[in-house]
Amino acid sequence: MASGKSAVGGRVAGRLGYRFIDTGMMYRAITCAAIAHDVDFEDHAAVARLPGAVTITMEPGPPDAPHGATVLVDGEDVTRRLRSPEVGEAVSFVSRVPEVRVAMVELQRAMAAEGGIVMVGRDIGTVVLPDAPLKVYLDASAEERARRRHEELRLAGRVETLDDVRNELALRDEIDSGRAMSPLRPAVDALVIDTDELTLDEVVERILEAGPCRS
Ligand code: C5P
Repeated sequence: MASGKSAVGGRVAGRLGYRFIDTGMMYRAITCAAIAHDVDFEDHAAVARLPGAVTITMEPGPPDAPHGATVLVDGEDVTRRLRSPEVGEAVSFVSRVPEVRVAMVELQRAMAAEGGIVMVGRDIGTVVLPDAPLKVYLDASAEERARRRHEELRLAGRVETLDDVRNELALRDEIDSGRAMSPLRPAVDALVIDTDELTLDEVVERILEAGPCRS
């Protein structure tokens, strides 16, 4: 969380003329559906039924669009709701349910099948696209990520204390890294970039220099 992956991914896609998919948006969309259907996030069986009950559609847009896509749930555009605090608090509970992951991974692989894509998310290199020509794992210290997210929220006009942001980050990290299926971890063959001391542009350049994604 707050590693800079969406901003970096969007820019890399723009430079290469590739499509860009932020898979976090898909887990957020299914969480939106859970909220709309009053599903209890702790009720695994109810969450597990969601992928069969709703249709998530990602319409890739230009890479400079926020998170690169318009996201529809049953035909309704939910893109603007996906970053709400309500969705942010619930998404890790929904995304740890295996049936949700299986359905999202299938959609992600179908989108990637055409090639020419930058896809970001916690399990892309390890699970979704293990044969991707270039895998990148962006790292940053918890303190730096909290600072970045706090600043992002401040610019969006949301008032949250740095402590609240630190706590949300610690909770999401713990659930995402500790879950049984597809926990957050780098692929063994990933290029690991510690972004603490790097600007966004420097991270983008390192990825482009790494080479295998050049067409
Ligand atoms: O990246 P973002 O913060 O939008 O992701 C929201 C949540 O979606 C993550 O905290 C994680 O629980 C889930 N997620 C996931 N696998 C992905 C992308 C996101 O489990 N590939």
